[in-house]
This record gives sequence, structure tokens and C-alpha cells, in this order.
Amino acid sequence: MLAAVAPALPVAGPYDRAAARREVDDLLLRVGLDPEPCLVRARALLAVAQEADDDDVVVHALVLEADALHRLGGVADAARIVTAVRETRPDLSAEHRVRTGWVLMRVCSNIGDSATALEHAVETARWLGDDIPPRLRIQFTIKYGDVLDAVGDVEGARERYEQAEQLAVGDPELHLRAVNNRAYTELSLGDTERAVAGAEHLVELAERYGHPLNSDELDTLAHIHLMQHRPELAVAAAQEALGLLTVKGNKGRDDLPEILLTLGIAHRHLGDLDTAAGHLGRAREIVASHGFSELTARVFEEEAELLAARGDFRGALEAHKAFHLADKELVSLQREAQSRARQAMYESTQARADAARFREEARRDPLTGLHNRLAVGERLPALLDARTRGGMLVVAALFDLDHFKAVNDVYSHEAGDHVLVTFAELLAASVADLPEGSGLAARLGGEEFLLVLAATTAAEAMQRIGAVRRAVEEHDWSSTTPGRSVTVSAGVAVADDDSTHFSLLRRADVELYAAKAAGRNRVCGGV
Ligand code: GH3
Ligand code: MG
Ligand code: MG
Repeated sequence: MLAAVAPALPVAGPYDRAAARREVDDLLLRVGLDPEPCLVRARALLAVAQEADDDDVVVHALVLEADALHRLGGVADAARIVTAVRETRPDLSAEHRVRTGWVLMRVCSNIGDSATALEHAVETARWLGDDIPPRLRIQFTIKYGDVLDAVGDVEGARERYEQAEQLAVGDPELHLRAVNNRAYTELSLGDTERAVAGAEHLVELAERYGHPLNSDELDTLAHIHLMQHRPELAVAAAQEALGLLTVKGNKGRDDLPEILLTLGIAHRHLGDLDTAAGHLGRAREIVASHGFSELTARVFEEEAELLAARGDFRGALEAHKAFHLADKELVSLQREAQSRARQAMYESTQARADAARFREEARRDPLTGLHNRLAVGERLPALLDARTRGGMLVVAALFDLDHFKAVNDVYSHEAGDHVLVTFAELLAASVADLPEGSGLAARLGGEEFLLVLAATTAAEAMQRIGAVRRAVEEHDWSSTTPGRSVTVSAGVAVADDDSTHFSLLRRADVELYAAKAAGRNRVCGGV
């Protein structure tokens, strides 16, 4: 039995990693039973774990915060938190992927978006390895069943529930939940035989484990009794559930009006219409103070049934209209909640897309679109590294346009720009056929460009470099610089074992200087 209040994590003093983990474990057990205090504790834990840079606990605390918020009705906030956790941590552990996925599935089911819930379920199932804590696997598998049921894949749902039942043997709470949800699915399908088998299994398991049924399970049982036309048994089950809820003093959730509704239906079937009306009235009061929900519509629907049973057809008609209105409100509320949650998820995704775009833009030269110096600084060391592993030669060629200042002076700065863009195209084309990572074309600045090639022989690389020089010389420049052709010089260096990014470029620069000194429009160095 869980104690009512767990010791909170000490906030003062040095960070205690083991205590933080114990707090996580305790919150994971309690968040479903008592979300409100757990929300406060998750936030306190988050603050100390952030301070101590314990990212695993930080993620746990965030997911717990989202879980609690979701249970308290903060669906969009929950969606926003777990989406942000995923977006900001591309290397999230499998367990955290499943935990975040589990929250997202519930958020989407809760707002009536079963299709997206299923997408999350399918995506999350990929991470369900042996390293996932057993309880989480079972919880996820049961929810997967619920989601499949909601989209109408009954066979798929049955399969998940069965799998969850097998995994949950020895865990009374989850074992009963899996059996319950399966029985509820059969009940909604109207499959009496399977539903009754499920109800019997539920009762038998509860006895075997010595674990009493909870209010959800008793509610399922009551409905299955009604299905079998045994209203007195249904009343007994619902009454027992009501007793459990009254003891627990459960406030925020739908449990109480749900059971009152079941009791109302059971008493109507029993023919005790006054008692039925009493329970239904209480259910209506609660749902009215909680705003519209799926339950409100069902309460009105039952009210119409009850009034009709009393022969008050006019009242029944009114209640029926109210039911349709509530149902319509529900649909539009669900839509609203869906769009809010989508917006929350989209905002985070968008922020990441923006960050990725800015990052990419910062590594490109705006005039030519080639990689810039920053990108070279990041990629060249990796290429040199790969060289020592792959046995390839890495060859760097520095290109500098000849007498480029004159192009600007004689024609125009625009003409100069056009020459730079055209040269960039020729340079990029020279490596376009190479696999990703074995050719890099960049503009280092001004009219200075770099080509890095990973090649099997130096001759092969030299051939490509020479071809660039020739392509420039042979290009038709008449429309850009009429009466004058453009040429380029290049200095080449082949990386050796000691080469660094800087030493390689320095050697290429020396060779470039030699090419200029020797009369330009030539390639120096290399072999
Ligand atoms: P060399 O053959 O020795 O390389 O002579 P050069 O004239 O090419 O060399 P220098 O370094 O004297 O001149 C480079 C010129 O490139 C000067 C500068 O105005 C021009 N330049 C640098 N960046 C740009 C640019 O983005 N656009 C244009 N149009 N010109 C640029
Ligand atoms: Mg130049
Ligand atoms: Mg220059």
C-alpha cells in the first residue's frame, strides 16, 4: 500500500543522484493516482536536476510533469512539453522515447484524434526493446490496444491486449487493466460471449491475486451484467464502485459521474425509475460543473431513455435534443483541443526546423551557395580523419581567379559577381558525380575557392583539378566580360599522416603563390 504523502526531495544541500532517481520511481507509481501533488513534486525535481545537469532525471521530470498536466486537463501543455523534449534531444534514450510516445498517444486519444494517436503508437513501438522497464511496456501495449480499438482495428486491439496480459502476469494492477480493457472492447462491439468471458476472467483473476477490482473494472462488469439482462448484479457492481470512489474522495476525474450514470442505467433496467433519476441528476450536476465532455452527451442520452421509460415523451424529446447539442459541442470542443495540441506540437517542430535552417544557412556562402569557411572548418577535419581509416588520399586545391580586380575595375562589380557565381557552378559541377563526403567545393572568401577531394590516386584528383582550370579557360565569357577571358590558378596539396586542416591549406596556399608567380592560369603542386 502506498503512503499518502511521500517524502519530497530535499532542495537544499548537494544534489543526491540516488535520491533523485528514487523520487522519479515513486512519482512514476503515483502520478496516475494523484496527479496534483505529483505535478508539484515533478517541477521541484526538475529544478534541482537541471541545476545538477542530470539530464536523465530532467527528462523524467518533464515527462512526469506532462503526464500530470494531461491528467489534470492540460492537454496542450502536456503535448508541448513532450514534443519539446523530443525535439531538443535527438539522441533520446529508448525508454524516454517510449515514455514521451505514451504521453503523446494519450493526449491524442483524449482529444479524439485517434489517427494521430495511432501514428505515435506505431512510431513508439519501434523502441520497445528489452531495455524498456516491464511496467512501461505493459502500459504502452494496453494503450496501443485502446488506440487500435478506437480506429476500428478490433483484431489488432485484441492482439495487443493479449500480449499485455501475458507480459503482466504477476502484476495484478496491470494484468487486470489489460483484461478489463479487452472486455470493454468486446462490450462496445456487442460481442456478448467474449465480453462475458472477459468479465469472468476479471473476477477470477481478482480472486486469484487477492487484488480487489477498481472502479473502472467494476463499471465494466456492471455494463456486462446489463448486457446479460441482470440489472440487480449491475446495480451491485456499480454500487461497489461508487463506494470505492466515495472513500477515495476522487474529485477531478470523470470516474464519479461515470459510475452514477451506470447506476442510473442499472436502476432503470431494474424498473426503479426514481432511484435512477436520483443518480442521473447527480451525474448531471457534476458534468454540468465540469463543462462539456463525452460524458455530458451520454448523461443526456440516458435522461431521454429514462423520461421515455416514464412515458414522458415530451421531456424525452427535449433531453434528446440536449443530447444532440452536447454531442455537437463535444465535436467542436474536440476539434478545438486538437488544433491547440497540434499547434503546440507544431511550434516545437517549427522551432527546430528554423534552428536547422539557420544552422545550414550559416554554413553557406550567400552569393554562390557553396559551403563557406565555417563549413570547411567542420568538414575538412572529418575528411582527414576518414582518410586514415579508409585508405583514401585527401587532396586540397586552392583556386584564385587571375587578375580579378581588373574584372571589377574594367566591367563592374556586378560582372565580377557574375564571374564568381559562374566559377562556383563550374567548381560544384566538378564534384557533382562524387558520392557524398568525397568531394567538397567551398568559397573561402573573395575570389578564393577550395576543392577537397578524396581519391584513390593523386593522379585522379589532379585530373579533376586540371579539368576545372580548363573549364574556366574554355568557358564562353563573352556576355560577362566581353573581349576578355577569365582564368584561374590553383595550388594543390596532398594530405599526409601528419596533415591537419590548417597545415594542408597552408601548403596549398604556397603552391597557389607559385602558380601565380609562374604566370597564372596553371596548377602547381600535387604530385
Ligand atoms: P591575382 O591574379 O594575383 O589573384 O590578382 P587579383 O586581382 O585577382 O587579386 P587581388 O587580391 O588584388 O584582387 C581581388 C579582388 O577581388 C579585389 C576585390 O575587389 C575583389 N572581390 C573580392 N570579393 C568580391 C566579391 O564578392 N565580388 C566582387 N565583384 N569582387 C570581389
Ligand atoms: Mg585573384
Ligand atoms: Mg586573391
